[in-house]
Amino acid sequence: MRRIFLLGALAVAVAVAIGVLARPSASSSTPEPSVPIASTGHLPRGHAPVGAADGVVPDGVTVLDDVPAVANLDEHLLESLRDAAAEAAGDGVVLEVNSGWRSPAYQARLLREAVGTYGSAQEAARWVATPTTSAHVSGDAVDLGASGAAWLAEHGAAYGVCRVYDNEPWHFERRPAAVDDGCPPTYADPTDDPRMQQ
Ligand SMILES: [Zn+2]
Repeated sequence: MRRIFLLGALAVAVAVAIGVLARPSASSSTPEPSVPIASTGHLPRGHAPVGAADGVVPDGVTVLDDVPAVANLDEHLLESLRDAAAEAAGDGVVLEVNSGWRSPAYQARLLREAVGTYGSAQEAARWVATPTTSAHVSGDAVDLGASGAAWLAEHGAAYGVCRVYDNEPWHFERRPAAVDDGCPPTYADPTDDPRMQQ
């Protein structure tokens, strides 16, 4: 309760700060807060733009690159992906990354967009997790390009990396037991995943 109060107080303080900072440009009739506020990284970002530091992935990134979306993945997952990438390269396949680690702000933006795309929060939940439940925010999931995903679906178990959802053939997480036991059964979609029921 006390924490909620403090967060509320913080939100008010930030709103006041944004109001004060935005005032000099108020005459320009721009409704959005100025960009420098988002770039500080210290204030809640609200609907501010997100960038590479939040895990937005530039084109052509692979599991071997060091952009935040890749570098902030769980170290064991990343090590497994890089080991797999070496074998994939021998097959002429690149493990291209479409999404990896995401900041809570980036995940929140994706969820807002999904609600718009799918028309309801219930349908959006089949595709995009919340900032508190997402395995991307915790650094435990990676979404690969089509050829890399197809390759890893076939060879990933040997590296302890598995598909998780039937409706997301691009989404992989670390499942160490798969090295001995093979990958566990997939869920139809994230709403079947007990981890998403929070
Ligand atoms: Zn994913």
